[in-house]
Amino acid sequence: METYHLNNLEITIDKEGAGQFTKVTYPIRYGRFCEIKTPDYLFQFNLNGEIKYIRGLSRSWPHPAEWLKRTDADDWVFYSVGGYNGIFYLIGEYYLPCLPYRSNSIWTYNPFIDSNIQQAFTGWTQLLADLSALRTNGIPSRVRNFLALISGHDQHTLNTRSKSLHRIVGGQISVLPPDTRHVDYDVIPLMIADGCLYHCDFCCIKTSQKFQPRAKDNILQQIQDLRGFYGANLSNYNALFLGNHDALAAGHELIHMAAAEAYFTFDFEKSHLKNPTLFLFGSVDSLLDGGKTLMEAIHRLPYYTYVNIGFESADPATLRRLNKPLEISKIEDAFQMMLDVNRNCHNIEITGNFLLEDQFPPNHYRSLIELVRNGLDRFYSKGAIYLSPLNTRQNNRALIRKFVEIKNLSRLPTYLYLIQRL
Ligand code: SF4
Repeated sequence: METYHLNNLEITIDKEGAGQFTKVTYPIRYGRFCEIKTPDYLFQFNLNGEIKYIRGLSRSWPHPAEWLKRTDADDWVFYSVGGYNGIFYLIGEYYLPCLPYRSNSIWTYNPFIDSNIQQAFTGWTQLLADLSALRTNGIPSRVRNFLALISGHDQHTLNTRSKSLHRIVGGQISVLPPDTRHVDYDVIPLMIADGCLYHCDFCCIKTSQKFQPRAKDNILQQIQDLRGFYGANLSNYNALFLGNHDALAAGHELIHMAAAEAYFTFDFEKSHLKNPTLFLFGSVDSLLDGGKTLMEAIHRLPYYTYVNIGFESADPATLRRLNKPLEISKIEDAFQMMLDVNRNCHNIEITGNFLLEDQFPPNHYRSLIELVRNGLDRFYSKGAIYLSPLNTRQNNRALIRKFVEIKNLSRLPTYLYLIQRL
């Protein structure tokens, strides 16, 4: 780490953050990064010189422990401490991510209309302008190179880069698995299949595409292109998202090949962050069809793997209303498989999604309690249940009451699912 003072800027390069993801109540940073502190803001940059975090230092900033984070998709997310509303109880995290786009959030707080937040963006633009006018004679070359790198990544360049990420993988990722919260959503996306097995009526993220695995050559090309895209900052990643909506249905050979090849090419073994993690979405059918062979293939990978299954409901009437073509017996079998895998495979964790809506028939909730409480002899800490609010334009207080009711009865960790894109 090297710190240099220039005019009113405190510039630190090669700063070392935490080496593994953790859940804390203060602004933690991970891996290696560089920062510039001005009297009003702390700007933090990744190893490519791209802005990643902004935190206000003046008294007008909403809260000293809150910050803005820029994602690889060029979205700014505001990390709110969430007031006194029991954020950890509700989402399993100490910070509430406030998104600049429509999602399924039950919170109406919009920090982006706050003039203090808007001024932070102006502050960043001003910093870039100040840097390009700066006389850098006599500055150590490492610091000078870092400043040049930052100056080369203005808003336009960052936006173009996010488009090239989407071009590499074949489009924007409309939803990340809820478990990616464990790595603060910092995943490298790699598409191994498109479309999904069902085309449920309620789903706002589906495509019209039929399920289709990607060709092996396409996956290998994505891996090469992604390595080029992440460049010097690749060493700050240790997590892979195999997409898209039902990567599990791509089968054990493609999953194993893609995850192993990515691990090797992205050099996860030498990442600044420990504990490589793999994330996938799966469906009831892909989990049951894959069975033991699929779990064994995943178990052999050098990752801790989260597989997130979309159950949605265990009530026939609700499933019919959602137009989800699944029999209850399959849902029960898949749920039992999830419990068995979570007990027997130390490096695989299967989690499940169910829908939350205050207008659903009582049987939707009765059948859910049957699975998450009556089917278990005690509380198990592995294998979370995520409840995804379906219609957040309705009564959000009623949704929270329903959530609390279920969570208090559940014998599995239970949280709200906040949909984030990449
Ligand atoms: S909920 Fe899942 S399975 Fe249903 S349409 Fe959406 S992505 Fe496909």
